[in-house]
Amino acid sequence: MIILNDLNLGLSISAFLVCMCNLLFTGLDRRVTKPQNKIYISMMMLHSASALCGIAAFLAEKNKLLSDSAFHTLELSRYIYFLTHSLLAPSFFCYISLVIGRSVNWKIHYSQFRTKRSLMLDVFLNASWLAMELIIILNPLLHWTWYFDNSRTFQREWGEIVLYIQSAVWMIGSFVMVMRSWNILSQNRKRSFAVCYMLVITGIVIQLVFPQLYIELLMEALGFTGVLLFIENEDDRRDVALDVYNSAAFSLDVSAALRNKIPVKLIIVRDVRFNRTANPMLRGKTDNHCFRRAVADYLGTKIQKYYIYNIGHKAFALTVYRTADAEAIAEEISERFRKPWKIDETDVYLKASVMLVSLPERAQNIADILYIAECPIPEKFQNQVMQGSDLDWIIRYSTVESAVTRGLKEGSFEVYYQPTYYINKHPFGAEALLRMHDSQLGNIYPDEFIPIAEKLGIIDEIDDFVLRQVCRLLSTGVPQKYGIEHINVNLSVLECMKEGFAEHIISIVENSGADKHHISFEITESVAPKDYHHLEEVIEKLKQAGFMFYIDDFGTGFSNLNALFSLEADVIKIDKSVLWGAEKSELGMVLLKSTVEMVRDMHKKTLAEGVETEAQIQILEHLGCDYLQGYYFSKPVPEQDFLSVIDKMHQI
Ligand code: C2E
Ligand code: CA
Ligand code: CA
Repeated sequence: MIILNDLNLGLSISAFLVCMCNLLFTGLDRRVTKPQNKIYISMMMLHSASALCGIAAFLAEKNKLLSDSAFHTLELSRYIYFLTHSLLAPSFFCYISLVIGRSVNWKIHYSQFRTKRSLMLDVFLNASWLAMELIIILNPLLHWTWYFDNSRTFQREWGEIVLYIQSAVWMIGSFVMVMRSWNILSQNRKRSFAVCYMLVITGIVIQLVFPQLYIELLMEALGFTGVLLFIENEDDRRDVALDVYNSAAFSLDVSAALRNKIPVKLIIVRDVRFNRTANPMLRGKTDNHCFRRAVADYLGTKIQKYYIYNIGHKAFALTVYRTADAEAIAEEISERFRKPWKIDETDVYLKASVMLVSLPERAQNIADILYIAECPIPEKFQNQVMQGSDLDWIIRYSTVESAVTRGLKEGSFEVYYQPTYYINKHPFGAEALLRMHDSQLGNIYPDEFIPIAEKLGIIDEIDDFVLRQVCRLLSTGVPQKYGIEHINVNLSVLECMKEGFAEHIISIVENSGADKHHISFEITESVAPKDYHHLEEVIEKLKQAGFMFYIDDFGTGFSNLNALFSLEADVIKIDKSVLWGAEKSELGMVLLKSTVEMVRDMHKKTLAEGVETEAQIQILEHLGCDYLQGYYFSKPVPEQDFLSVIDKMHQI
């Protein structure tokens, strides 16, 4: 008996020391801020108190018959032991619900009751542990749980069994929660739960088999060391360089919130970059890491650091569980980018786009969220927080993106033709314009799908498709019969810059049997001047092969005089905005007139697009423009309709 008592004393001391070590590590690593850390610390403190009571009880046990004070110490230590140890399983349950993301923080938890059922469950759970605690507190009066008989021997009562059952229910509850979230747990967490449950269950089993051997406390303390090593230690979740969490942690935490139906608002601060126009003196000094660190530190002043994640090269995400605060925080962050950042003693202006995304309304999975965080956004959203219906744009973008991706396979693309005319209204040629008819989205226009195809890198396949269709039509010889001299094909300038582009185009046309002299290409000059040389070479090659060249959209922001002088184009297409501007103001008229004159002086031809009225034709004729294109004659129409349009015109 004496030996067993000493063994139990040793086990309690070991349990106490293990708890102390766990607490020491927690303190040294300063893992004290998160709600989960706080519960872990509380559990360790409760457990150390239980272990201390165990030590006191086993020491007092030896002298309980000889000394009254030893007996009272024994009574007191048993009393405190029951109080603290009975709290362990409910605390562990809370801890698990925080770790797996079922709850986020108690204040938020109680301010966001989602359903009547969850409210009832919470009331029941809290009532059950409070009732148990009350029974233990009142035990000196009731003796429902234990008592010391006249010979000062410890006697168990039915209350202890209830206590065991209650603890078992809490443990099973936490186990079920873990199992239900198993798929969204990291490897470390899975490992840790396995270690913890194994140790605790082994301890309980040993103690059930040998009721006099108090090993349970030590096994639980060791289980908590497992939790410390793999859950409290978050090395695998941290982005050490920026002192925030990493994208793996983001995926797991947000998946947990979605899985547990916890409402959360995400603030995405993306495209964090150097603002070149605002820092003219700082060209070249673009140390991205310093910028991101400064932004991460700033975000840490707006929300606890453990809610901030670095989710990619230039993007941060903040999870805001107090959803009512999210909009104000997002606005403040967006506002902050108007002011300079102190980086290495220098004032630096940065740019970023801020988005506010409500979960689960706006996105139902991580892929959707990452899509929102990466998809290109229009310039007009640069200085405001994108939220609510602004995000519809992105959703539309993503649906069009998938439509474009399947478009080539499903044959959704169709080439339309819009005829062009001599100034005397005789047919001259046509422009091939692409249309998309998607099975789900209906008709989509090129202004929407061409930029997407460019981003997806399939614009070359699309342009090839148009060219092949045009070649097929021309090789029938029908358009030529009606006086169509050329059909124009639009080229994406990005494609023109690719190696072997001219050879590729030439081979498509040669294989089709169409005559190169009946095909012209249109390009919108939008390359940097340093790439001009290469573009010139491509145009030169294609012209030598027999094709004609048009500069498209002349007079818009894209084109400049450089293109006119250095690219050997045959025809300059004056953008419709220039024609329409001429009707609106005198200055507009000057611009149109001088453009037509300048092109003529360079011995090139002009084509005016967007011709919708007779009055416009009068103006253009007066100015000496060569060709016309516009709704006045015909909208872009399918191939068959195009052939009937030119047939009619031919007969006039
Ligand atoms: P773009 O090359 O400047 O084409 C002219 C656009 O003006 C066409 O729009 C045409 O329908 C429209 N238009 C022509 N006449 C009038 C008019 O009198 N009034 C008005 N309001 N509009 C007129 P669309 O077909 O929507 O094409 C938009 C742009 O998409 C094109 O501008 C072109 O840059 C691009 N695009 C179209 N098809 C292709 C293609 O096959 N390949 C490539 N790379 N780009 C294409
Ligand atoms: Ca065009
Ligand atoms: Ca144009």
